[in-house]
Amino acid sequence: MRWTPGDRSNIDDARGRSAGGIASLGIGGFLILLVLSWVSGTNLFTLLGTDSSSPAGSVGTSGELRTSPTEERMVDFVDAITEDAQKTWERILGGRYQRTRVVLFRDAIQSACGFAEAATGPFYCPSDRKVYLDLGFFRELSERFGAPGDFAQAYVVTHEIGHHVQNLLGYMDRVAHGSHAGANSASVALELQADCFAGVWGHAASQRGRFQAGGVELEPGDADEAIRAAAAIGDDRLQRMATGRVMPDRFTHGTSAQRVEWFRRGMESGDPRACDTFGTTTR
Ligand SMILES: [Zn+2]
Repeated sequence: MRWTPGDRSNIDDARGRSAGGIASLGIGGFLILLVLSWVSGTNLFTLLGTDSSSPAGSVGTSGELRTSPTEERMVDFVDAITEDAQKTWERILGGRYQRTRVVLFRDAIQSACGFAEAATGPFYCPSDRKVYLDLGFFRELSERFGAPGDFAQAYVVTHEIGHHVQNLLGYMDRVAHGSHAGANSASVALELQADCFAGVWGHAASQRGRFQAGGVELEPGDADEAIRAAAAIGDDRLQRMATGRVMPDRFTHGTSAQRVEWFRRGMESGDPRACDTFGTTTR
């Protein structure tokens, strides 16, 4: 993929912020810190980034953040993909599209949708309309699930932005009243549609001349990376990896074959109307 770093205006950087603040220390840890702070004369809560003067929900300062050039490049990448995907959806949906942001966190975070750990994977929170991502997931995707490459990562980001589009278009409400697991559940229809929406962006990004115009542009072979990623994180494959068997009544995202199929439909058509997973998978 070809892309240019932007101004990170699509990012809420919470990597330097401790999740849950003081609550995450436990009352014991809180008391110990309080005592140590008093003895040492320094405010150790500040060191932990749990100072009460920094209100919850604020953007974390990067002052005590340990990072690397590789990780910072990754932040720029997520910002560039998000910017490009949002411009694409603004073009497709016009005034119906409202912008979202990607909250980057480490290990765990307190979101408007509750406490979340990195192990949950990236997610979209409809309450605050934001995407949550721990950059460590990209390493998981490459090493544990066998799906390396920048377009595999872009697929993950644009799948979550796909959920945001669904929220704006009212698809999330359907799922609130539908079933949450099983091969024919509303949840699977929702996830496959997000895959298809990621493909819709992929279609836009595959147009020539985009890089010259300041956008993201795919290179030959990129589409295969995303298809490998979609195949890597199907419910059947993940269940087989975890338990050795497949349980369709517990599907939440669809099979590898379905995820690939719907991503392809979006990628080939570039049209969100080709993403009607609710009409075909829900009865
Ligand atoms: Zn999803």
